Amino acid sequence: MNEPFRRALGIIRTLKQHGYEAYFVGGSVRDYLLNRPIDDVDIATSALPDEVMAIFPKTIPVGLKHGTVVVLHDGVPYEVTTFRTEGTYENYRRPESVRFVRSLYQDLERRDFTMNAIAMDDTGQFIDPFAGQAAIEKRIIRTVGAAEDRFSEDALRMMRAIRFVSQLGFQLEEETKAAIIEQASLLTHISVERKTVEFEKLMAGPFASRAFSLLVETNVFMYLPGLAEKREALQQLSNYEWPALTSAAERWSFLLYLLNIEQTASFLRQWKLANRLIKDVQAILHALSIVRSFADWTKERLYEVGAAVALSAEAVRSLVNGENGEENGQALRDQLASLPIQTRQDLAVTGKDIIDWYGRKGGPWVEETLRKLEQAVLAGIVENEKERMKAWLIPWNQTHEKDC
Ligand code: ATP
Ligand code: MG
Repeated sequence: MNEPFRRALGIIRTLKQHGYEAYFVGGSVRDYLLNRPIDDVDIATSALPDEVMAIFPKTIPVGLKHGTVVVLHDGVPYEVTTFRTEGTYENYRRPESVRFVRSLYQDLERRDFTMNAIAMDDTGQFIDPFAGQAAIEKRIIRTVGAAEDRFSEDALRMMRAIRFVSQLGFQLEEETKAAIIEQASLLTHISVERKTVEFEKLMAGPFASRAFSLLVETNVFMYLPGLAEKREALQQLSNYEWPALTSAAERWSFLLYLLNIEQTASFLRQWKLANRLIKDVQAILHALSIVRSFADWTKERLYEVGAAVALSAEAVRSLVNGENGEENGQALRDQLASLPIQTRQDLAVTGKDIIDWYGRKGGPWVEETLRKLEQAVLAGIVENEKERMKAWLIPWNQTHEKDC
């Protein structure tokens, strides 16, 4: 057992002292067996939510409907969820309500894939009724129980299977893959929000190229917003080293660029992305449209798009062109560092200074003057220093006359 689990042991021991069962479950146990970094340690217990809240002094009822209580332990929040089954599934989605049960087996049985259905007790022993450890050793993703049934219960699991391929580099077990091909169309019943969560994780995985191949092979792509007509272009996406991209905005930009999507805003809105992210993607795509090669990054263009957007655009551009993104990125960072100013905030003169110098009322002329100054500073015509800029802007005799 490693540190993240050890830190949470107190919760399991306390529940046991009160006569309940409690185990570590889900993604953290899988990732531990894979030697991957663990983020959230989840706990499953036979105690009902009220019982959990009665035992621990600091709890937050985050999802009582689903049996989840957050327990604060040494200041760290842990999700403690009552053993449950999911009752009856309707419309190919996970039901809103769940049924609490007292057996771990039933809780593991409702989980999606065998690798995600392993429990670990407080001594580090595994409870693995569906041979999840063997699946992990063989690096395969297979459903708990009959794949066809599990995907028709909750169609999102088909996307989860493919995003786990992207994250872990595993293969889909044959029956599991065949069932996805068979039932991909059930994804029409799944909300865009849930699809987006999985798709973003899919794009971010180290084996994203494999996952894109699978999206095409299984026809899952046909049920994703804006992608139904993009089979060939999507297949191309499997030829690229996605991990070269380091943010969601870069990944969406790369996708839109290679899929040749013109109505960018409406495409991204179909995926219900946040406005902030949509703006970032549009800025990167705009930057891409003005540079076709590294040589096109002039000082003026870099200043116009800003450092962050320029670096993102360069990462995308390098990947599209099969160039070394790290080298290009470093060269661009050097170029950025040599700019006398990076943003307007860096300019030693403000609009107010300009208004004072000329003694005129503000108006569009102030913005024009600031732009003129920025260009002059970027071009090295004048130093970014207040008095020098004033002298350059207002010839001596003009100020002199005014002073008289
Ligand atoms: P991640 O690393 O993305 O958090 P995870 O395996 O922890 O991966 P979660 O979405 O956090 O995935 O879910 C936690 C656990 O809940 C899973 O390991 C799995 O056992 C179960 N689970 C999640 N979603 C489903 C689902 N749609 N159907 C069945 N079981 C699910
Ligand atoms: Mg998780």
